Amino acid sequence: MLWPFLTLLAVVTGGLVVRYLLQREYAVREQLRHAQLELAQVRVAEHTELAEEQTKQQTVFNSLVEGLLIVDEHGQVQYANSTLEHLFGVTQDIRGRTLLEALRSPQLVALARQTLEAGRVTGFELLLPGIGERVLQVNATTFRDPDRAHAGTVFVFHDLTRLKQLENLRKEFVANVSHELRTPLSLIKGYVETLLDGAKDDPAVATRFLQTIEKHADRLTFLIEDLLTISRLESGQVLMNFQTLNLRSQAEAVVDDLATRAAERQVTLLNEVPPDLGVRADGDRLQQVLFNLVDNAIKYGRAGGQVRIGARRLQADLIEGWVADDGPGIPAEAGERVFERFYRLDRARSRDAGGTGLGLSIVKHIIQAHGGEVRLQSELGQGTTFFYTLPLGL
Ligand code: ADP
Repeated sequence: MLWPFLTLLAVVTGGLVVRYLLQREYAVREQLRHAQLELAQVRVAEHTELAEEQTKQQTVFNSLVEGLLIVDEHGQVQYANSTLEHLFGVTQDIRGRTLLEALRSPQLVALARQTLEAGRVTGFELLLPGIGERVLQVNATTFRDPDRAHAGTVFVFHDLTRLKQLENLRKEFVANVSHELRTPLSLIKGYVETLLDGAKDDPAVATRFLQTIEKHADRLTFLIEDLLTISRLESGQVLMNFQTLNLRSQAEAVVDDLATRAAERQVTLLNEVPPDLGVRADGDRLQQVLFNLVDNAIKYGRAGGQVRIGARRLQADLIEGWVADDGPGIPAEAGERVFERFYRLDRARSRDAGGTGLGLSIVKHIIQAHGGEVRLQSELGQGTTFFYTLPLGL
């Protein structure tokens, strides 16, 4: 009687135990699944954070005006920012390539070696030949991971090209100015010495020499005045007093000023500017533009020839003015260069005529400061016309 009861009890208890065990396993599995899920979430979050951090870093590195390059201890590129790619004209991904393969600069490879030995190299100048040669200043430092497992070199490149160009322009300008100042000065000194050596005793010779000295002293004065004008215009110190001016009257004033000079070369000056044309300009500066252009046309045009000053309305708010001569003209290859400081077609002729080599450069500056443009048209043997644009004055 007891056996069946015991068997039933064993079955029931066994069932309960099995159920209990199954439930426990299920709970443990659930916990495990939960933990795995949490872990995965943490990993995703970490990954996203890392990715965000990397994007932030990339943005910062790419916004640098300096080129940035990281090379590992095997000399392979690990990272290059977009400025570096631009500086070296790189269009592909260079990561993993050797320095020489990636940037083709043996000079840079040598610098990397030097840096590894010294730990740090600063102020190294690198010349990148090619279209528009570039000058880069490179600073390089080696680094080692905190666990000292990996080492590498960080290069920072500063583009000095523009700075070097400006420096060369400045040097060229100083050399030109010194030369221009020295020539009349040494001539003056030469004449003074000859006078002192006895030429002063002959009144006719003395007068001639003194006149020459005066001419060169005048040249020095013009040169210094033009230099000051250029320097003021370039530094933006000139405050323009824009007014509506009658262009014909402005041209007439210049014709009056230059009448004697024109007469000396039997040049006829013709003011053909329409009477009702107004321009918006600074009066003194406009006078300077017209004076320089008409003076050049007299100096370099044909003796006995004609100089025509004209203008027309070009657009609703723009006028085009010109000064035309019938002289020997300007060869096409010198067309743009005549606006450069100290450029002359015929140095001796310009000097003889009292030129400083700065007249057209001043014209260009002034017209540009009015928002206009200058250009020239010339045919050899036929003459030259200088054109300029200015805002219309109402
Ligand atoms: P410069 O003081 O020598 O006249 P500019 O800057 O005014 O300097 O002119 C530069 C050069 O351009 C002159 O030396 C001259 O060779 C040339 N030039 C200027 N105007 C004319 C012109 N109307 N016809 C021919 N050559 C000209």
